[in-house]
Order: sequence, then structure tokens, then C-alpha cells
Amino acid sequence: MKTNRVINKRKGIVFILSAPSGTGKTTVISEVLERFPDISLSISYTTRAPRAGEEHGRDYRFISHARFVAMTAKGEFAESASVHDFFYGTPARTLNRAMTSGRDLFLDIDVQGARQIKRKYPEAVSIFLLPPSWSELKRRLGGRATDDRAIIRRRLANARREIQDVIQYDYYIVNSDIEEAVGTLEAIILAERQKISRVVAWGIAPLRRQEKVRNV
Ligand code: ADP
Ligand code: 5GP
Repeated sequence: MKTNRVINKRKGIVFILSAPSGTGKTTVISEVLERFPDISLSISYTTRAPRAGEEHGRDYRFISHARFVAMTAKGEFAESASVHDFFYGTPARTLNRAMTSGRDLFLDIDVQGARQIKRKYPEAVSIFLLPPSWSELKRRLGGRATDDRAIIRRRLANARREIQDVIQYDYYIVNSDIEEAVGTLEAIILAERQKISRVVAWGIAPLRRQEKVRNV
């Protein structure tokens, strides 16, 4: 029987993942990127100092406050926000390139950034990762051991505010068991990729020469 391969072309999908600090967003994202090597992670600019083990260009692009202000004025950010007293921004170029090239992109950004991206690109997919409980969130923040007590207290207070915004997201995932959380995120990615509304061109792959001969 003749089997034609159906092909389609679509724009890159922007997946936004937000979560209160310490929930496990970095852990979940790195697991998902391992399973999906065809998805990129946007590297944000920030004015905060690198934590132990963080690398410029891999975790963030660490820049001065003055440079951040200049980049904002030039419209170089797709979104930007002040989080925990520092500035963070997603480079517009990364986002535009991914969308036009058809490569899916992950944004690890806060609720303010998610709101800005969804307003500009309603087709972006927003996902909120929730901690299983307050006590577990506190334990995970403490376990990271890269932040001092005052910072942890501030992050917990911010978490209480941020969680109110879960309502504006498309999906939620509770990060209780890591495997389960990653599996749920995987399911969301796979389903979003199959949406008819994202396809910009349909086609049938041409038969190979050999098949043509066999099928005439
Ligand atoms: P975030 O990026 O949201 O600030 P991290 O990914 O750095 O959080 O995780 C914070 C801490 O919680 C880390 O020590 C990480 O190993 C741990 N962690 C993440 N997910 C889970 C989970 N499902 N169960 C237990 N510990 C977790
Ligand atoms: P951290 O300093 O712990 O790496 O990140 C603090 C918070 O800033 C996290 O909620 C993270 O998602 C958010 N964040 C990181 N990069 C960006 C960004 O480019 N834009 C916005 N709006 N938030 C960001």
C-alpha cells in the first residue's frame, strides 16, 4: 500500500514556566530539556550577582544596572520585571528567532513577565509550577544553601503573593514527585505541538523515486 508521509510546518511555541523560587523549576526544566533536545531555553539578562556555581551565558547573562536600563530603552527585551529587588529580562531576539524558525522555546520567568508575554503573544503556553506545601517549599529553599535566611524569608513572602496569580495561567503542575511533574509537563508539550491552530502549512511529503516507480 502507498503510504504518504504527512508533514506540517508550524511556528515555534513559547512555553512559559513560572513558580515561586525554590519550587523546583530549574530541576524540572533541566529534566525536560534532556528529554526534548529540540527545545531551547531562553537565557535571561539579570542585574543580580551570580550564585555559587552559576555561569555567565549558561544560567543568566549577568549585567550592570546601567546596561539593563540602556537595553530596556532600546527595546531589546520582550518582557522585563523587577523580581526580589533585581531586574530580569528576556531578550526579544531569542524569542523572535525561535518563533520564526519553528524551534520551541522555554522561558523561566516570573508572573509579571508571563503576563507581558501572554499579552503580546496570546498563543504562548503558560504553566505554573506549585510546591506541594508551604513547609516543603521552605525546606527546598533552605536546602539550596546558596541564599541567607533574610533572603529565604523574602522569597517565602513573595511566594505567597505569586501563588495568587496561578489563575491567569493556562496549566498548573504540582511538583511533589519530580518524575510525575516532568511527565505532566511532557504531556502538555506533546499536546500543544499537535494543535491544528499552530500549523501554518500542511503538505504531503513527495514519494521517493523508488516508490513512484512501484506505484505507477
Ligand atoms: P527553583 O528553580 O524553582 O528555585 P530548584 O530547581 O533550584 O528550584 O529546586 C530547589 C531545591 O528543591 C533543590 O535542592 C532541588 O533539588 C529540590 N527539588 C526540586 N524538585 C523537587 C522534588 N520534586 N522533590 C524534592 N526536592 C525537589
Ligand atoms: P532567580 O534569581 O532565583 O534565578 O530567579 C528569581 C525569579 O526571577 C524566578 O521566578 C525567575 O523565574 C524569574 N526570572 C528569571 N529570568 C527572568 C526574566 O527574564 N524575566 C522575568 N520576568 N522573570 C525572570
